[in-house]
Amino acid sequence: ALRITDECINCDVCEPQCPNQAISMGPDIYEIDPSRCTECVGHFGEPQCQVVCPVECIEIDPARQEGADVLMARYRQLAGLE
Ligand code: SF4
Ligand code: SF4
Repeated sequence: ALRITDECINCDVCEPQCPNQAISMGPDIYEIDPSRCTECVGHFGEPQCQVVCPVECIEIDPARQEGADVLMARYRQLAGLE
């Protein structure tokens, strides 16, 4: 899963781009729900939030480095395919 760092400027550009509704406004800055982030696996070839973020403050969460199999399984679960 990806995470948003404290360099987020709350521009609101990433939230509507997420195919899994994983992004929302937190207490101070935008946040990613790791249980809903597939790194865009199943939807797009690259993480859409990273593509649009103007300050490049979205990165792989070092504590949640997940392989393609895990991300695809999450995609299938979120999509109701299993
Ligand atoms: Fe959503 Fe994709 Fe960003 Fe994860 S990488 S938060 S699924 S837009
Ligand atoms: Fe924050 Fe980047 Fe999302 Fe804008 S696009 S709200 S700066 S994480």
